[in-house]
Amino acid sequence: MRKVGLDKEKLQILLDKKISNDCNFKSGYILGSMCTEPFKFTREIYARYLHVNIGDKGISPRTARIEKELISEIAKLFHGRNIVGNFTSGGTEGNIIAIRIARKCKASVKKPQIIVSEAAHLSFEKFADLLGIKIIKAKLTPDFVIDIEDVKNKINKNTIGLVGIAGTTGLGLIDPILELGEIAKENNLFLHVDAAFGGFILPFMQELGYSIPKWDFSVNGVNSITADPHKMGKGIIPAGTFLIREDVRLKELLFQIPYLAGGAFHHFNLTGTRPGAPILSFWATCNYLGMDGYKSLVQECLNNTEYLKKRIAEIKGVKLKTEPQLNVLGLTMEDNSNISILHEELKKKSWKLGEFNKLNFLRIVCMPHVKKEHLEHFCKDLEYVLKRIDKR
Ligand code: PLP
Repeated sequence: MRKVGLDKEKLQILLDKKISNDCNFKSGYILGSMCTEPFKFTREIYARYLHVNIGDKGISPRTARIEKELISEIAKLFHGRNIVGNFTSGGTEGNIIAIRIARKCKASVKKPQIIVSEAAHLSFEKFADLLGIKIIKAKLTPDFVIDIEDVKNKINKNTIGLVGIAGTTGLGLIDPILELGEIAKENNLFLHVDAAFGGFILPFMQELGYSIPKWDFSVNGVNSITADPHKMGKGIIPAGTFLIREDVRLKELLFQIPYLAGGAFHHFNLTGTRPGAPILSFWATCNYLGMDGYKSLVQECLNNTEYLKKRIAEIKGVKLKTEPQLNVLGLTMEDNSNISILHEELKKKSWKLGEFNKLNFLRIVCMPHVKKEHLEHFCKDLEYVLKRIDKR
């Protein structure tokens, strides 16, 4: 700690210098992220409401009402009725909340297990560790979604719930949620859908006329959904949501804080103090874009995905891991050799991608900040780097 503080102008310069090597969305180099650049005006809204703590609804009752309204709008988008929920810090928290509730619903099971697919996000490893729940990984089909037969085989007396993914982390694929719903119903299991990524693209794709398999509350067996505004919703980090069908048992399963200005209230969240700014700025984002705005945003991402898909097909030495369902592409070597070699070279050219070692591919996400010219630039570098690797 300095003895004497610096003046504000100097501090800003110093900080800008200190983080000057951090990449930003505008640079076009961030191709592997599931987050994106928010609108300038929503940043301003966010900054204006930085002080709002929605952890105490008594202090911010109006923000609490806006949160409730937004949850109800999102529930409608997901074809849900009688849904309750909260904003969260993101997909990880939403998934942990869901699995905690699933475990509470089957408290008599002493060695609880949850079945997730091999493509499940790391957050499930986290909750397994935190909640003492065993994760059972169901195999993937050749199309990289959860293998339904394997799920059926893995259910036993310790199984408390199933997880389906709508927009997998690696390849953006949609698990067969309808079948999972049937299995969940037959076996009286909790079914959580992790739509952290897919939640804010699938409803708009459906509106655009894309054929989307059922994945949301329209599936009878689905109990809860995680969907993140801070991914495809253009929300500002941290903004996740957790939604669940209202149930008489639910109240007993929630946390209660008795001493707040708003009095005792029940809630799902793991965090106590919670920022209201992501909620208020997301309200502005939703009302600014509307259905039409989201549709055109999503259409542009899908057009760019299609463009990149075609360009990759023209480039010798690489191929797609699988046909993309959303705006996520898996890039792999034509001869299936180790993708890390290509990744290392692309890193030297400043590209920020995601590497998935187990399935040996690089993830490219055509988020709203990714423009066609960035993809063209990437393809040029990709061709250049592949030639260099070839000459070795
Ligand atoms: N679920 C899925 C499918 C994801 O892709 C991610 C992150 O990318 C998460 C959960 C975790 O979300 P967060 O990083 O916001 O906690």
